[in-house]
Amino acid sequence: MQKLDKLKVVFKDYNFNQNLLLPPSLEELIDPNHPVRVVNQVVDNLNLDLILAKYEGGGCPAYHPRLMLKVLIYGYLTNQYSSRKIEQALQQNIHFMWLSGMSYPDHNTINRFRSDRLRGVLKEVFSQVVLLLVDHGHITLKEAYLDGTKIEANANRYTFVWGRTIKYSKGRIRNQLKELWSYAERVAKEELEHNEPESFEVIDAEKVAQTIEQIDEALAGKKVDPKIKQKLNYARKRWPEALDKYEEYERQMGDRNSLSRTDPDATFMRMKEDHMLNGQLKPGYNWQITTQDQYILEYSLHQTTNDMATLPTHMDSLKQSLGQQPEVLVADAGYGSQENYEYLENNGIEAYVKFNNFHKEQTKKWKENPHRIENLYYNKDLDCYYCPMGQPMKFMGKNTQKTALGYRQFYRRYQAQNCQGCPMRGPCHKRKGNRIVEANPQLIRYKQKTREMLNSEKGQHYRSRRPVDVEAVFGNVKYNHNFKRFLLRGMEKVEIEAGLISLAHNLRKMAN
Ligand code: SF4
Repeated sequence: MQKLDKLKVVFKDYNFNQNLLLPPSLEELIDPNHPVRVVNQVVDNLNLDLILAKYEGGGCPAYHPRLMLKVLIYGYLTNQYSSRKIEQALQQNIHFMWLSGMSYPDHNTINRFRSDRLRGVLKEVFSQVVLLLVDHGHITLKEAYLDGTKIEANANRYTFVWGRTIKYSKGRIRNQLKELWSYAERVAKEELEHNEPESFEVIDAEKVAQTIEQIDEALAGKKVDPKIKQKLNYARKRWPEALDKYEEYERQMGDRNSLSRTDPDATFMRMKEDHMLNGQLKPGYNWQITTQDQYILEYSLHQTTNDMATLPTHMDSLKQSLGQQPEVLVADAGYGSQENYEYLENNGIEAYVKFNNFHKEQTKKWKENPHRIENLYYNKDLDCYYCPMGQPMKFMGKNTQKTALGYRQFYRRYQAQNCQGCPMRGPCHKRKGNRIVEANPQLIRYKQKTREMLNSEKGQHYRSRRPVDVEAVFGNVKYNHNFKRFLLRGMEKVEIEAGLISLAHNLRKMAN
């Protein structure tokens, strides 16, 4: 067989030292449809007066805020969240170079602009972009889908401070101080006569230091149990300092139950991302957004793990930013509370917001359980329920309950007349006497209205649309763009990051 000759290898021309007659223009190198052009165009059309007002004047010329904002947004749009990475990109990436007009602000400048110049004013810039999206017909603001996600703070996972631990520690100091005082009274009764503090219930560093001093003076020259001496020494050195620290933590914590010592504004929350699979709580923030067609209409940051509590604040903020509320709000059962239904009704918003058990009550088991209060017959004229045995349950009084958020709910109580010997008693109730049921007429009305709305054709459309609209945005930001942890610390700065990520998301979507 004849052996084939090897084919000649041909390479393309490669002349490393070839000189160009004219340097290439960056403009020509940027694709006409590249997202960087969208960032450039949108930011060029924004009114940045609020940011400009943050500059005091004098000193070295500063980089223009329009340049800095473009670079930051484009950094967040391309998953480069750290100021050092953006600084590097400005020297290596032609898109950044084109955007910055070949200016090279360093990471400190980028960071200062992000943390200081954007503080308190980024929301207004964000709102301008949302209104621009409305003008361009991308969204209408008629409907909004609300949801939240927890994002880890830039804080050590083990630097937790728990509110209940502080309470417990203060209680221990209080009890031990009482014991020391009682001991001193036994040993030096005369010296301490008429000197007893009014109460040990409320203690602070000053009061504790003063009481220990009184005990020291009273016990001076007396034969004192060495263990008590040791305890007094410890108390003198540690307790005032500890109480000062507890007071500071309590002030920072406010209504929360926990905080992180590295970022005192971060609260310990259960996150979806649980790599250790041990349910460990991590310091973080609750990022709430409303979306339409996967564009973010509004973002807000909260220190509570409870989504329910965030709805009124978030919706107020949306109204303030965009000048109007949406006509329709769609949210999951995490938001279905009486307080929220009342808020939405008072603001004229059609609420497609599920309540707890909405899905359960569609099941056969639920529907066929004659003992559930929802399935008891209610006679409006006589104001009484009828139990499964046909016995009237008469009105016996009212009851008020306060929710964890301080909202007052009014209940009416009804009692069966005689449950003794009833063959249905086992599955009906576990009380010793006659069965009592509590009904909240206002909540029943809200639930009935919501049930009808959610089961309507429109409601079913919104229900199927909700995960695709709002949850997909979180998936995109967290998993496709790897934004799973804030980089800055403190509520104000973290809010800026939430704003930048929301802005970048909207512009990225606009460019697609
Ligand atoms: S236990 Fe009492 S409330 Fe329940 S079905 Fe019997 S009579 Fe009615």
